[in-house]
Amino acid sequence: HVKARGKDGYRFYSESMSVDTASRLSLERDLRLALERDELKVYYQPQVCSQSNRIVGLEALVRWQHPERGLLYPGDFLPLAEETRLISQVSERVLDRACKDVGRWIRSGHPDLRLAVNLSPVQVEHPRFVETLMQRVQAHQFPPENLEIEITENVIMSDLEQISQKLRELAAFGVRIAIDDFGTGYSSLNYLHRLPIHTLKVDQSFVKAIRSGEDGACIVNAIVAMAHGLKLEIVAEGVETDEQLDYLRSLGCHQVQGFFYGPARPPEDINRLLGSWPARVASF
Ligand code: C2E
Ligand code: MG
Ligand code: MG
Ligand code: MG
Repeated sequence: HVKARGKDGYRFYSESMSVDTASRLSLERDLRLALERDELKVYYQPQVCSQSNRIVGLEALVRWQHPERGLLYPGDFLPLAEETRLISQVSERVLDRACKDVGRWIRSGHPDLRLAVNLSPVQVEHPRFVETLMQRVQAHQFPPENLEIEITENVIMSDLEQISQKLRELAAFGVRIAIDDFGTGYSSLNYLHRLPIHTLKVDQSFVKAIRSGEDGACIVNAIVAMAHGLKLEIVAEGVETDEQLDYLRSLGCHQVQGFFYGPARPPEDINRLLGSWPARVASF
């Protein structure tokens, strides 16, 4: 469906795309220009320890500071970036920026701070994906142990053999691997103990379903119990209310992320926040 239409006739579509050639070309040009003009920004959303309230990680989320349309979200331009293969440049930009920002914070007194980055299927499927990622990380002297990559179940299932080889190489390098939007993909649970996975991210939809007195929470219960059994770390996404937080805490969900603690923010804000370490998100 059409999300917005600029006066020049550009259209932004979400997930389901059937962009005609003309508008694809113009949007592609627009995005190329954005790369040249450095209009892509990386925002960071804190991942908070549910017990101590400390920020343990930051998820990098890309934004496009468009000169006319204002701040655009990934849903507005990532599908197109993937179609046009500009996604590799977008991803490279995000990773470089994030390694710089978070690397600086790590070196300035937050040695355990984790950087979580989202990877697109197109990127992971690229034959030189592992090599490229390791090169970027090394170029920034970013400690691999502080990096967590987020992939979805569908990426894993697309080519289990290829992907597991790549994940093993990355894990050996020290990088952590998280499954994003866990529970929403088409996957078997079989891969969970066959692949070097460190973290499950419970999808927002299951967190939304937590309400006292209803059975909406049963999926969250099951995912957290399974993660405990498999000794995986567990991050709940989309936490917005006290009630959700209390519930997740009582279940033993290790980390939470969501509007309750704040949306993704530009690096200046995070910088300020980390300046008063041990940062508690209450000061957010
Ligand atoms: P995701 O990785 O599952 O990220 C979570 C999304 O939920 C983010 O949307 C975040 O802003 C939003 N969110 C966080 N807390 C809450 C909350 O409490 N309530 C609600 N309703 N939403 C919350 P965003 O930034 O629009 O990103 C959407 C998706 O785009 C991400 O989903 C991720 O799959 C993708 N994405 C974002 N940045 C990148 C990137 O640099 N590279 C790639 N390949 N994908 C990215
Ligand atoms: Mg994510
Ligand atoms: Mg998610
Ligand atoms: Mg998502």
